[in-house]
Amino acid sequence: MTDPDCHALYAVRYAHNPHRRQSHNFIFNDPHDGPMPMDYFIWVAVGDKRTVVVDMGFTEETAEKRNHDFFRCPSDGLRLVGVDPEKVDDVIITHMHWDHVGNFDKFPKAQFHIQDAEQRYITGRDTHWKGFKGGVMVDDVCTLIRNVYRERVTFHDGSGTLAPGISVHHVGGHTKGHQIARIFTKRGWVVVASDAAHYYANMEKRSPFPAVYNVGDNILSFDKAVELAESPTHVVPGHDPLVMERYPAVSADLAGIAVRLDVAPTA
Ligand SMILES: [Zn+2]
Repeated sequence: MTDPDCHALYAVRYAHNPHRRQSHNFIFNDPHDGPMPMDYFIWVAVGDKRTVVVDMGFTEETAEKRNHDFFRCPSDGLRLVGVDPEKVDDVIITHMHWDHVGNFDKFPKAQFHIQDAEQRYITGRDTHWKGFKGGVMVDDVCTLIRNVYRERVTFHDGSGTLAPGISVHHVGGHTKGHQIARIFTKRGWVVVASDAAHYYANMEKRSPFPAVYNVGDNILSFDKAVELAESPTHVVPGHDPLVMERYPAVSADLAGIAVRLDVAPTA
């Protein structure tokens, strides 16, 4: 087997929702409540041979409509860590929720990677399910399909390897075709779980985020993420402000903006 290529791996924080509470964030709730804000990230793996982005984040216009704090376009966040979005080779789409797919046009050269099951989910009968509404925006679906016709979308069914050291794995749960990204770094295999686990606490309590397609599959996706990672501390949740606390900033001036996921967390 080919040895995996080693990648630098960054999480870039581009937006924040201060309004969320603990009672909003777990499907199995206990009576405690209190503020539990949410961060929004995109992730990027930089290797000698290729640069791969995981998810694209949302736009300023969407942030205004949804009353979220917006710090910068996610593609500008990438520039802060030395990545030119116009030269990105691949974009892994973990799932098609609005906060992950708003910026297709910022990646003009990229090949987009999605699960067969996710494409069927957002274009088929599941769209008529009440719980589906709100999570997916039809304009994003149209943009994806346009890119399918341009042959800029690669479909995966289960597990797929983009390059040695970068793979995707279907987990379902949060959405029908949700996938997680597994990336080889100098500390071993790191899993970018995206919304398979919004917060560390979703995994710790085994209580998924309430926006969920299949609760049982979402709980199993926690196990799958850990299985694919070097250790449980190599799993990175999708929206947890603790990520910014546990991992070191890329540089002093990027504190609160971008952290390195290819070095061990402090907690
Ligand atoms: Zn999300």
